Amino acid sequence: MSKSFLKGYNEKRDFRKTGEPRGQVLGADNETFVVQKHDATTLHYDFRIALNGVLKSWAIPKGPSTNTRDKRLAIRTEDHPLAYADFEGVIPAGEYGGGTVIVWDKGTYRSLKDSGDSSLLHQLEQEGHIAIWLEGKKLKGGYALTRTGGNQWLFVKMRDKEADALRDPVNTQPESVLTGLTIEEVRAHIFTPLMY
Ligand code: MN
Repeated sequence: MSKSFLKGYNEKRDFRKTGEPRGQVLGADNETFVVQKHDATTLHYDFRIALNGVLKSWAIPKGPSTNTRDKRLAIRTEDHPLAYADFEGVIPAGEYGGGTVIVWDKGTYRSLKDSGDSSLLHQLEQEGHIAIWLEGKKLKGGYALTRTGGNQWLFVKMRDKEADALRDPVNTQPESVLTGLTIEEVRAHIFTPLMY
């Protein structure tokens, strides 16, 4: 579904009068989010949400926090293909993003904003603010992403029952949600020859 199709769909309808669904580029729920721990030149966490047929992406140097007081810098990066959400492995040294990647968390998300005529895509690309509810294995609850200028955004846990100032999942739950392996173990598995 293209953005323009839904714009046309919405413009033809008065949703105060029709029972038809409002056209949203994003489905109301069950869209994928993923956090990939990426040990590249500098360690960071790539936060991605499936939206408009791609993975909208940010690199978070310190990783996500469950503490509402933490304002985590999130640097907007290029859109990635949807299939990237399952990628784990080693990007060869010298290649773009060279280093080891694990799927640190994965699940679904939905928008928390009553969007009116503004789609989540519009909120992200034009308004520079989204609020989404995550249902991952490690990350749950509301998170806000707010653009502060250029490619710089802030990624902040919202106040709700899932907020926890003490959990610190980046440090206490370092493993892949796909394999249970840490980034160090994935690197060792790939570079250590099997001994018979
Ligand atoms: Mn990365």
